Amino acid sequence: MRRETLPAEKGLSAQEARKQLQRFGPNRLVQAKKVKPLVIFASQFKDALVGILLAATVLSVVMGEISEAVTIMIIVFLNALLGFIQEFRTEKTLEALKKMAAPSAKVLRGGVEESIPSDEVVPDDILILEAGDRVAADAMLLESVELYADESILTGESVSVKKDVRSSAFMGTVVTRGHGRAKVTATGMQTEMGKIAGMIEEIDEEMTPLQKRLSQLGKFIGIGCLIICAVVALTGIVRGENPFDMLLTGISLSVAAVPEGLPAIVTISLALAVSRMLKRNALIRKLAAVETLGCAGVICSDKTGTITENKMTVTAVITPNGVYEVTGTGYEKSGVFRSIKGASPRQDECLTELLQTAALCNNAHLYTQGRSAFQRLIIESDDFSASGEPTEIALLIAASKGGFSEQTLARQFTREGEVPFSSERKAMSVLARLQDGRNKVLIKGAADVVIKKCAYIQKRGAVMPMGDDDLCWVNTQTENMAKNALRVLGFAYKYKPEGGLSEKDEHSFIFVGLTGMIDPPRKEVYDAIRVCRRAGIRPVMITGDHALTAEAIAREIKLLTPGDGVLTGAQLDRMDDEALEKAAAKTAVYARVTPQHKLRIVRALKKAGNIVAMTGDGVNDAPAIKEADIGASMGMNGTDVTKEAASLILLDDNFATLVAAVEEGRIIYQNIRKFIRYLISCNIGEVLTMFIGMLMGLPVILLPIQILLVNLVTDGLPAIALGLEPPENDEMTRKPRPKNESIFSNGLLTTIIFRGCIIGLATLATFVTVTKYGGSVEAARSASLLTLIFSQLIHVFECKSEKKNLFQINIFSNIRLVLSVLLSGVIAAAAVYLPPLAGLFKTVSLTPFQLLAVLGYTFAGPVIAWIVSLFKPKHTTIDPPEQEGVVPPAPKLLPPASGYDTII
Ligand code: ATP
Repeated sequence: MRRETLPAEKGLSAQEARKQLQRFGPNRLVQAKKVKPLVIFASQFKDALVGILLAATVLSVVMGEISEAVTIMIIVFLNALLGFIQEFRTEKTLEALKKMAAPSAKVLRGGVEESIPSDEVVPDDILILEAGDRVAADAMLLESVELYADESILTGESVSVKKDVRSSAFMGTVVTRGHGRAKVTATGMQTEMGKIAGMIEEIDEEMTPLQKRLSQLGKFIGIGCLIICAVVALTGIVRGENPFDMLLTGISLSVAAVPEGLPAIVTISLALAVSRMLKRNALIRKLAAVETLGCAGVICSDKTGTITENKMTVTAVITPNGVYEVTGTGYEKSGVFRSIKGASPRQDECLTELLQTAALCNNAHLYTQGRSAFQRLIIESDDFSASGEPTEIALLIAASKGGFSEQTLARQFTREGEVPFSSERKAMSVLARLQDGRNKVLIKGAADVVIKKCAYIQKRGAVMPMGDDDLCWVNTQTENMAKNALRVLGFAYKYKPEGGLSEKDEHSFIFVGLTGMIDPPRKEVYDAIRVCRRAGIRPVMITGDHALTAEAIAREIKLLTPGDGVLTGAQLDRMDDEALEKAAAKTAVYARVTPQHKLRIVRALKKAGNIVAMTGDGVNDAPAIKEADIGASMGMNGTDVTKEAASLILLDDNFATLVAAVEEGRIIYQNIRKFIRYLISCNIGEVLTMFIGMLMGLPVILLPIQILLVNLVTDGLPAIALGLEPPENDEMTRKPRPKNESIFSNGLLTTIIFRGCIIGLATLATFVTVTKYGGSVEAARSASLLTLIFSQLIHVFECKSEKKNLFQINIFSNIRLVLSVLLSGVIAAAAVYLPPLAGLFKTVSLTPFQLLAVLGYTFAGPVIAWIVSLFKPKHTTIDPPEQEGVVPPAPKLLPPASGYDTII
């Protein structure tokens, strides 16, 4: 294959791009929806019950009850305002999230590669296309290296189409192989995609499973409440109360008691979790993922860049003539080749061939003078900057330590063709033309892959057929280095009489040697693995790297513990799905796998009942990411296709970030349970008070505006503040919860009903006590109103923890909750003691005895709840702490110089 290019272009300047954007508009097919505050506010009144209440209020105006009507209106308005604040904040968070998750495109602007939002791409921009990219606009190819595109989105044809220079690439299609550059010819609605834009629907925001379940539950409880409210109203009418008053009572009670906001509350909590996760570098793309994250039982992670730092350094080189240590750490250019065994570096012709191949069969670049003009920089250090893959950068640096610079080599060799690297092939080759006209093919790749393509070996100045001994030696050297956690690459070359290069030409190479590079584990990973174990989550490594390298790293970070197995892609191929399912239960490391293997692994783990989180970056990882319960794409190294398939993006590509996201998922689930516990038990308390009061033949316990006041001060601010509860810090000490577990599991429903009954009974008892000891009905109502409100305000603190009771928790850990409870308490007291408000709410001041009754019954609630909790069986979900010290010691990451075998 020939490398085809049209003259290099520098792309538009920032100013030109701005002009083009003004002229052609954003590169968008559909207008993104904007959050409209007025619409959200209006929607607060859409609820049927609120509608009925407003109608009833109008009726009371007609009947002359003006002050009551106005009060009801104000309360309804305040309630709507609270609902609006919550919903507006949620929508804003989600909108910001969508913007962050919006697709981006790589373009050349003023000679520098930039990543910009796709909708800012303009005609004449130069797009940089790599495997896994979604093409941002219609464009004509200027350069194509084996570039193939999947155009099924336009044509329905799933076979990828080869894109040569001057052919068109279309918006929305995906680059499946190779790389290239293209000049944008059309954007937005002018593209081929734009012409069929009518067919593209906006992605529907589906409800998450929990939202669905809670909306059903809300309906169910709602119907129950409505029936009870109707019974309350009817009983009153039968008993001779004013029918209109009873109607208003029934409706007010329904407004207060029906938990119409349940799914909305979940959305708010999830949105909060989304912002918290973002602060920890996890960008959520699908809201449902927040829920599922809390259930994750297995986390499958890539190794390179996710568990390790992806900062490669060549530390060892072995050729058939000598063994060398390469000094200098990280991205330092100062370092030398030090001979450990055999020939000195200068006399080793294999080392020369190897370093030439390392530099020429390479798409990375080092720049010695400041910033480069044409590429995105990966490294910027004092003495140089570099762009490209870390593996290839490491090789360039090693070559330069050996005296071979790209620039000098470029003068001696012209690159004529390339068969690009892919995770499936695990190798890359180039065709280079020498000044004397000869064609040389250079290959580098995973050592075991390259060696299979070699028929000869070069040693001591001669090329000879590769014998069994040679093969055995190469394998031993590879294994030795891999055991020391080094990534091992093999190098080979051959001459070719005629031009052109394709995968078919990758055979009969002359083997010249191996390089070993270290890539240390990320520091945070050690802790993250420990957290996983404590949380009952099994971490699994899936990598394209050598089994022994993977195993060494896995041991070092304690991902591999005694009893865990290592499986290679080749072994996996020999297993049927059933055997894999069995093996997967015990496998902690999968090595030398391809993206296709990943899909099988996810399926096997899922089939065994695990909830699987899986990371991915490459173009072919998308199916596995989609299949996983939680697909996580890399933010920095991930391709567009993987990002689109993922429900979560790890902005820093870090394994520890995924573990942090799981923790946040668990925290938010706990908070949702707290919320629900509070709201439902309070509603039960309210309904019971009115219902039993009616059944007992008592006067109406609370008047409609009083019920609405209860609803305003208890369901409003304290409930919102409860959603902002800080974590209890024990979330990662429990086993993951099953995905279909009821939100009321572990005895929550009983707790809710029991506590709701106590609130109701305390309120009733207040009413009965006050009337029994000579109090008026108004005084009894006022006292009951306070007991009901105060009981709920105390109960909100009980809801802070499921394991600790009111006397064990730190009441002040959520200061917003404390403040909102104080405010609500003051409003309630003002409604009774402040004359104008007392007039509105039809309350009277209480005698000290009546007040004592209020306080006594209010505090009796938590005390009874506490006493009962002492007799409740404990739900032990905490696992024994992880046993330290059972893992065999990990080998040192840097190989001892004498660790290598003798050379042949
Ligand atoms: P992970 O899947 O954990 O991210 P990985 O980076 O090792 O690991 P791949 O990118 O699929 O996975 O690489 C597989 C193997 O291919 C590597 O172990 C290495 O031997 C070889 N390899 C990696 N990059 C290159 C490259 N640019 N050219 C040639 N061979 C490469």
